[in-house]
Amino acid sequence: MPSARYSLVVIGAGTAGLVAAHAAAALGAKVALIERHLLGGDCLNVGCVPSKAIIRTSRLYAEMRHATQYGAQIPGDVRVDFSAVMQRMRDIRARISRADSVRRLTEAGVDLFFGAACFTGTEALTVDGTTLRFKKAMIATGSRPDTPSIPGLAEAGYLTNENVFDLTELPRRLLVIGGGPLGCELAQAFSRFGSKTIIAQSWPLFLPREERDAAQILSDAFARDGIEVRLNTRAVNVRVEGGQKLVDLVSDDHKSTVAIDAILTGTGRVPNVDGLNLEAAGVDYDNTDGIRVDDFLQTTNPRIYAAGDACLEHKFTHTADASARIVIRNALFLGRQRLSALTIPWCTYTDPEIAHVGLHVRQAHDKHISVKTFTIPMHDVDRAIADGEEAGFVKIHVKEGTDRILGSTIVARHAGEMINEVTLAMVAGIGLRTLASVIHAYPTQGEAIKKAADAYNRTRLTPFVKTIFSRWLTWQR
Ligand SMILES: Cc1cc2nc3c(=O)[nH]c(=O)nc-3n(C[C@H](O)[C@H](O)[C@H](O)COP(=O)(O)OP(=O)(O)OC[C@H]3O[C@@H](n4cnc5c(N)ncnc54)[C@H](O)[C@@H]3O)c2cc1C
Repeated sequence: MPSARYSLVVIGAGTAGLVAAHAAAALGAKVALIERHLLGGDCLNVGCVPSKAIIRTSRLYAEMRHATQYGAQIPGDVRVDFSAVMQRMRDIRARISRADSVRRLTEAGVDLFFGAACFTGTEALTVDGTTLRFKKAMIATGSRPDTPSIPGLAEAGYLTNENVFDLTELPRRLLVIGGGPLGCELAQAFSRFGSKTIIAQSWPLFLPREERDAAQILSDAFARDGIEVRLNTRAVNVRVEGGQKLVDLVSDDHKSTVAIDAILTGTGRVPNVDGLNLEAAGVDYDNTDGIRVDDFLQTTNPRIYAAGDACLEHKFTHTADASARIVIRNALFLGRQRLSALTIPWCTYTDPEIAHVGLHVRQAHDKHISVKTFTIPMHDVDRAIADGEEAGFVKIHVKEGTDRILGSTIVARHAGEMINEVTLAMVAGIGLRTLASVIHAYPTQGEAIKKAADAYNRTRLTPFVKTIFSRWLTWQR
């Protein structure tokens, strides 16, 4: 039975919804959480968790194939056990899901309702015929894959992140449509399992958000993995013949047809805004950008807030989490925390990983900020050499004439771990001067960050300063 009125009703039990419901209940609010499918949302069930689990195994296979480089011998051929890979992924998912269980939520004091939420007014909604009234509500309905409209695709059948992790057999030949993070991560994983993989990307470059030299390093890695990357290429038609899928590709004026066994689409995400009857709630939205929110994550109905993929440009689990925390402060405690104040890192978990935080050089130039960049190639870092993981670099951009970090791109095997140090420095206002004085354990790949900071320090040794030092030392002799 629902309460007469909730302090907070949360729609969607993905990362944003779970974080908000737990936090609000812990702080004493009367909270209802509504979920129409699975607790944990995309990240746990069909996103970060299963993708990272299979990526780990694919890396192991790649390393086994290159075992001799590490002085090891693998007797016979490396045989991929795809069903064991998927079983390991399911076990990991099940284990992590315990943190988001019904019991954990109800023990925390959250009232849980299963079904699709639909607003009936500005202060109420229904779920499976039950009406819930609220003082405040948060929409955290996430996003879903945007499917390209290619003639014949639906009839031929295709994979998205929603069903690719249900595969029981490895496709022998795979076409990945889309060269964004999802396409790149899964293309590399499946290629390493043994699928003959092609990426078709309609843009002239893949990972369009990343710096070009970062994407180039990944492009070289893909070539080593045997992935065929076709840029400027659109899939224009799909048909099934003799049990295989034939896909017509157009690259500039060149037409070709590829025969494959499976198609995986990774062409973007669309927010889940349908079926919520947002008009009744007075909440403005757009089918492409999602729920319209201001910098405080408030919608056009002051009682209703939104968080996560349903409203954010940066569709990541950590932004879903951070935005949910903002909503709790602003909706329940009269806070005025701004979305724009967040420093948001991200990482594409290919091998090597590509991580970024803050501004790119071109964005700084657009803001008329002069930039100085310090770059350390990973092949100058002892631990990367010892690990045989020399592809990549650490690049840190500072405001010219200062040590203030504006942004950073890291390409390295564990770039996702390394970017956190730079993010911390940016959030805490720590400049390269201080980073240079932080002792980094030797040998670690994170030392590349200290080396970049040391490179900055050397620029402080101007000819004038050098002359003063030299005179001082001469006088001391
Ligand atoms: C393959 C893949 C890999 C990814 N890897 C990463 C990664 O490595 N790192 C990272 O940071 N991000 C990653 N992401 C993105 C990440 O998964 C999302 O940003 C994150 O899950 C968003 O959380 P959310 O709470 O906003 O939405 P979701 O997790 O999508 O949760 C929304 C929930 O709302 C429910 N819902 C929707 N409509 C209704 C309704 N009307 N009534 C009731 N319930 C409803 C849905 O069923 C769902 O459970 C990945 C995404 C994909 C697809």
